[in-house]
Amino acid sequence: MQRRDFLFMAGAASLTPATAASGAGSAAASAAGSRVMALDDHGAEAEWSVTGKTDPDAVALIEAWIGKSARAVAAYYGKFPVPRVLISVRFTSDRQRVGGRAWPFSPPRLELTVPVNADETALMRDDWVLVHEMTHLAFPYIPSRRHDWMVEGLAVYVEPIARIMAGHMDARQMWTDFIRMMPRGLPAPGDMGYDVTQNWARTYWGGAIFCLVCDIRCRQATDNRKGLRDALRGINAETDFSRDAGFAETLALGDKATGTTTLTDAWKQMREEPYDPDLEALWKSLGVMVAGSGLGFDDSAPLAPLRRAITTA
Ligand SMILES: [Zn+2]
Repeated sequence: MQRRDFLFMAGAASLTPATAASGAGSAAASAAGSRVMALDDHGAEAEWSVTGKTDPDAVALIEAWIGKSARAVAAYYGKFPVPRVLISVRFTSDRQRVGGRAWPFSPPRLELTVPVNADETALMRDDWVLVHEMTHLAFPYIPSRRHDWMVEGLAVYVEPIARIMAGHMDARQMWTDFIRMMPRGLPAPGDMGYDVTQNWARTYWGGAIFCLVCDIRCRQATDNRKGLRDALRGINAETDFSRDAGFAETLALGDKATGTTTLTDAWKQMREEPYDPDLEALWKSLGVMVAGSGLGFDDSAPLAPLRRAITTA
């Protein structure tokens, strides 16, 4: 099973909680046995704790895992998205894969479950879950669940780009995953727009399609000078997961940062009516194509410069 199939396994990367209230407190802020570590060069730090397996090697592995994941997210956003985060990691024999959840407290809190036998390969090379959860920290908590497709879709879209920018992953892997998985986010017969028809595939992969299309449209509108990364950095400069925000206002913050109306226009286009792009044509125009058992890039394709810019700092 490939890594992104995990997104279809309940609990692997849970939706943000519906009932958690922003500013609800700082649970476990001073939990016994917690540690503090720096997450970037701008003063962001994590207060983190490990339960279920606390030998020095296990603790060191978790510290390295948190640090590596934070570097990827900071590479994408220019800094770690929040000044302080609480991270609790629980080793368990009940799970076969890493699971995670983000809670919009102040400071925000991440809960991770890790298989008790997880090794360096599982956490340091293959894991995407912690980067996904950390990505949630850069976007405000949107109380209306109608927009979960954006919240989860951007985490699906940003996570591999962040890891590529940090040198943790090859761009070919990301495009291979997108080609294989994004068709699942297309509307089925009878489906409506993103705000109306909600299921796992539309939420995670439909939302990721929205992000990819907005990245491309923004770059086309700005001669490839601004992209979705600039929009999301602009949003994170004004707010984060410890605060509530309206969806339209949040998109407007992103548009202000790029000097375009890309996000707002795309939302208006796709919120009620199903958006059904020709993904095959899109891959061709970006210059990504399956070649045998691998993936090839065509740098003469019309959108190849945009494709390269998407994963380059
Ligand atoms: Zn998520």
